[in-house]
Amino acid sequence: MLNKNIETFIGCNKSYDKANIVLFGAPFDSTTSYRPGTRFASRVMRAESYAIETYSPHQDKDLEDIAVFDAGDLELCIGDTKAALSQIKTFAANILNDKKLPAMIGGEHLVTLPVIEALHNKYPNLHVIHFDAHADLRDNYLGAKLSHATVMRRVWDVLGDNKIHQFGIRSGDRSEFIWGKGRVNTQKFTFCGLEETINNLRDVPVYFSLDLDVLDPSVFPGTGTPEAGGVSFNELLNAINLLQSANIVGFDMVELSPSYDPSGVSTLVACKLLRELLLTLSKGICDKFKGGF
Ligand code: MN
Ligand code: MN
Repeated sequence: MLNKNIETFIGCNKSYDKANIVLFGAPFDSTTSYRPGTRFASRVMRAESYAIETYSPHQDKDLEDIAVFDAGDLELCIGDTKAALSQIKTFAANILNDKKLPAMIGGEHLVTLPVIEALHNKYPNLHVIHFDAHADLRDNYLGAKLSHATVMRRVWDVLGDNKIHQFGIRSGDRSEFIWGKGRVNTQKFTFCGLEETINNLRDVPVYFSLDLDVLDPSVFPGTGTPEAGGVSFNELLNAINLLQSANIVGFDMVELSPSYDPSGVSTLVACKLLRELLLTLSKGICDKFKGGF
């Protein structure tokens, strides 16, 4: 017999009313600078997620035991960047109004901006923890202010100085790194200092943005702008585990581009990371999010 929930990410089949976390796809890749294709990530992840287990031996937790509603993919205006971002912002704001946590699968990295804008309206003191190979701090990319290469600069426009904490960064224009000094906290190459950052942010709401190209391309070739010299899967998993003690109020996972990895391994890496992330954050989310800030 067919499982009527087969189109949700595995184990994320609770009702909207009961869910603490609302998972949704933002299949947008119109500003991708090199190789497009991230618009297919969420639907491929849902389909392939049935190859992994709902149970995590890493955490001894199961997706079946937490309350996640998979809303499916937004139908975005692919040809109009501003309209697409506005659709995402409205959707995220509705989730927040219902006192639930937005969990988004990109899409390219630009889709992070409207979710952060929606969260910032609710939490003026919002901080962002950002894992990425790329600084994403350009003011414009080939003249475009709204680009996946400028997303953290646009986030800075919203949040201001010392609210963005980046890790794993190993690529960017020299001017990005110079501009970022004193404005953005950038940890090059590794997750060094992450624990200390989380401890310092104990009393503030935090958004987590995971650009999957932070991983080494040997682990994760399925992305539009692969960058050699990245972190290992286990290093990323350990870093995600540390987020358990942060006050996460929303998160995303972006930049999987499934067709660049015909083996399908990159998609399964993303699926496993999503499972671990949902499980890692679910307890903290349920307790802390309900209380508000
Ligand atoms: Mn990025
Ligand atoms: Mn990147």
